[in-house]
Amino acid sequence: MRIVLLGPPGAGKGTQSSRLAQVLRVPHLSTGDILRAAIREATPLGLKAKAAVDSGALVEDEIINGCVGERLAKRDAEGGFILDGFPRTVDQATMLDTYLRHTGDEVDVAFELVVGLDHLQQRVVKRAREAMAGGEAVRSDDNEIALQKRVVAYLQHAASLSDFYRQQGKLVQVDGLAEINAVTSSLTDHIASTMPRHPPFA
Ligand code: AMP
Repeated sequence: MRIVLLGPPGAGKGTQSSRLAQVLRVPHLSTGDILRAAIREATPLGLKAKAAVDSGALVEDEIINGCVGERLAKRDAEGGFILDGFPRTVDQATMLDTYLRHTGDEVDVAFELVVGLDHLQQRVVKRAREAMAGGEAVRSDDNEIALQKRVVAYLQHAASLSDFYRQQGKLVQVDGLAEINAVTSSLTDHIASTMPRHPPFA
């Protein structure tokens, strides 16, 4: 099962992706997590991506596409994956389709978590507070200025990206403001009803 999660920053893509990955027993691949780890470890990828990530801008397609291609080539992603934070642009979505076509695969569903912009700041502030309370590092881009830039980057591409998957008949929009377990149920119910032979539903 190959799933992509779309939605603005703070919509809950990370939480829902990780829940789906557990249920479906496929890896959760978050491009944001991959980039943050690369930055922490100061790898060549991290050094190239750091300025864009810290400021809230998108990392260049060439860099991110290469990094996703490498990750998808790993054995654990052969049977499926949940992609969180990728694709963010139509060019990235096209690259993903081209990549998957080589192995005769395709994206099965694109879930979009729909959350109004007026809720995002509140959610990101909450995430930063929870990280601090739990003794974790606060994301370098969970601040007001970077968030604004992330929202602008999202808005630039969101409609065309949704259209891309709508035209393929793969877009499923879910109310991202619903209670967290209700969102997960909407996603798993959709998968169970459209792909009933996929474990664990079979
Ligand atoms: P996220 O954790 O998904 O919010 O991503 C954090 C940051 O990583 C973004 O603001 C971008 O700077 C970068 N990033 C993650 N995924 C992508 C992507 N698909 N394309 C470009 N930049 C990305």
